[in-house]
Amino acid sequence: MSDERPQIYDQNLMHHSQNPHNKGELPNPDLQGSAKNPNCGDKIKLGLNIKDGSIRDIKFDGYGCVLCIGSASILTQLARGLSVGDAKELTLDDIEANMNESGKKREECMAVGLNALKQALSEES
Ligand SMILES: [Zn+2]
Repeated sequence: MSDERPQIYDQNLMHHSQNPHNKGELPNPDLQGSAKNPNCGDKIKLGLNIKDGSIRDIKFDGYGCVLCIGSASILTQLARGLSVGDAKELTLDDIEANMNESGKKREECMAVGLNALKQALSEES
């Protein structure tokens, strides 16, 4: 088998970056966080609504590369509904597990959304 079509980004990541989920601004966020990756020009802002210790709603806004926006979109899907404690435990591996590709990626781009989430949750002790 030599059906190796080099694909830079997998389908799921492309889908998320082209049709980002949970993108926009929450009207009255309980928590907010932001992060950027100056090396690539990625910038993400996150807003969260917390109810009974869980993330009831989460939205992100910002701009960046495919990897950054796609990862942030995947992250918001993962985080929605989680308890604050569980959301704090989210890692890059959790995001990557939702991409179909296992190649090496620019982690600093994937981490922007995650860093914004961590910053938002750090306000909630
Ligand atoms: Zn980037």
